[in-house]
Amino acid sequence: MPSEVLSPLLRVEGLVKHFSAGGGLWGGKDKVRSVDGVDLEINQGEVLGIVGESGCGKSTLARAILGLVGINDGRVLYDGRDIATLRGGEIKALRRSMQLIFQNPHGALDPRMTIAESLLAPLQQHRIGTPAERRETIRRALADVGLDEKFLTRRPSECSGGQLQRVVIARALLLEPKVLICDEPTSALDASIRAQILNLLVDLKNRRGLTLVMISHDLRAIRFLCDRVGVMYLGRIVELSSATEIFDHPAHPYTQALMQASMMDEGLAPDAPDLLKGDMPSPVNPPPGCHFHPRCAYSAAICRTNSPVLEALPGEVGHRAACHFPAPRR
Ligand code: SF4
Repeated sequence: MPSEVLSPLLRVEGLVKHFSAGGGLWGGKDKVRSVDGVDLEINQGEVLGIVGESGCGKSTLARAILGLVGINDGRVLYDGRDIATLRGGEIKALRRSMQLIFQNPHGALDPRMTIAESLLAPLQQHRIGTPAERRETIRRALADVGLDEKFLTRRPSECSGGQLQRVVIARALLLEPKVLICDEPTSALDASIRAQILNLLVDLKNRRGLTLVMISHDLRAIRFLCDRVGVMYLGRIVELSSATEIFDHPAHPYTQALMQASMMDEGLAPDAPDLLKGDMPSPVNPPPGCHFHPRCAYSAAICRTNSPVLEALPGEVGHRAACHFPAPRR
């Protein structure tokens, strides 16, 4: 569902985020290379999907973009400004501009608070509006997500998962953000509710001119929602393209394997060979060369020593893959 692309709103340059493994007071000696040199541009008004298996670093990337975790290297620029250089009121403004939709709506809301109290809190925290204006803002946000005012007196335990995710989205909208970063927004919901929440996100994006970053392992949701898609493997983007191009002409063996696994899960390719063999290696000690080589059906000697970089492919402008032998476009 492509939308008109305007201009870069967010730019991620060489982003690196490592964690110490082993924990403890002093941290461990090993480094978990959660995000390992990511470059991305996110254009105003578009929906960018980030896909990959659990543990590939996509949630950490989302939190780094939001400035919620410190980074080891690189920069995140919002509207041309490095977010690390923002101070005081500028940081508050950034927090309003970029909102995170969590995976689990039950964990995102305080179970002791009514929905009204949960929705009022960010307006009070950011000192937005008079009491009457706050009530009106909350009513509007609830209506925008398809909930009526009777929910205001309920507590989270009195709402379904889908209703709670709508409340979480309404809470994000109260601050009139420009960017919503959605981290697996439907994975904790029943299949019957998922499509409703995805439709709601599309509707809000169109009505409010939002820019969306959609983190998901659900390829069907990504295909439905996104203009462009980045495929992440062990902390790196291995393929980046328009959603149409990447689903019609996946070039990286990992992208192909993910798509085949998704089709097998849906029962659409029951006899297809499983291209995604084995588990993802540990991000503490990733394989040399191409990180995907131990699982790749096309691995050659060069793959075990030389790390491929994200390079432009023939065909559609903007289609890039990090592979020594990307699939030819047929
Ligand atoms: Fe496979 Fe080699 Fe491409 Fe890596 S670089 S994905 S191992 S063909």
